[in-house]
Formats: sequence, C-alpha cells, structure tokens
Amino acid sequence: MEDGQIQYADKIKKSELIGSGCLVQVVGLIFPFIFGAIAGVPGVIGGIVLCLILLIAGSRMSIKWICGNCNNPLVNKSIKVCPACNAHFETAPSSTHSTSPQPGYWATKRR
Ligand SMILES: [Zn+2]
Repeated sequence: MEDGQIQYADKIKKSELIGSGCLVQVVGLIFPFIFGAIAGVPGVIGGIVLCLILLIAGSRMSIKWICGNCNNPLVNKSIKVCPACNAHFETAPSSTHSTSPQPGYWATKRR
C-alpha cells in the first residue's frame, strides 16, 4: 500500500488524419491502377491485395496514444507510466480475480 501520491491517468487513443499512416494509405490506393496498367486483371487483383495490406498498415500507423493527464504523446500503448507527468496508466483488469466460489458454497446449495 502506497500513500495517495500516485496519480492515475487514462491513455487516450488518437488517430491522425494527416500523417505517415495517411500517406501509406494513399500510396496503397494507387497500387491497383499501376499494377492494372502493367499486368492487366491479375495486376489489379494483386494491387488490391497490396492496397488492403497498406490500408491496414496505414490505419495502424495513424493511431497514436497520448496521456490523458498532460497530453504527452506515448511511444506505445503498453507504456505504464507517463514519462512527462509520471501518471500511472491503469491496465485493463485482464488478470483473473479470486472471485471463484468457495467449495463450501456449492456444498450448502446442493441439498
Ligand atoms: Zn502525462
């Protein structure tokens, strides 16, 4: 137990409309046309596949995480403490809580 000096903050997901991710997506949209001009229908299909990959990659690149306390950009979303304001980010309670019913509970309910 620590004293109440620890500051907690939320990580805020922020998607950029203009940035490297957007540029990747634009390039991806051009691929089907270029490939189609070179190789015809198979080129268009290949270009669409490449386009989809770049769209997914681009949307991932455009997502940024910022500190909900001081708006400092975070390098990745797995970061636990804000480097700028030292606020702690609460992680999702994915770990199992010890909420399983005691064996005695079922024993009494049985009869
Ligand atoms: Zn912060």
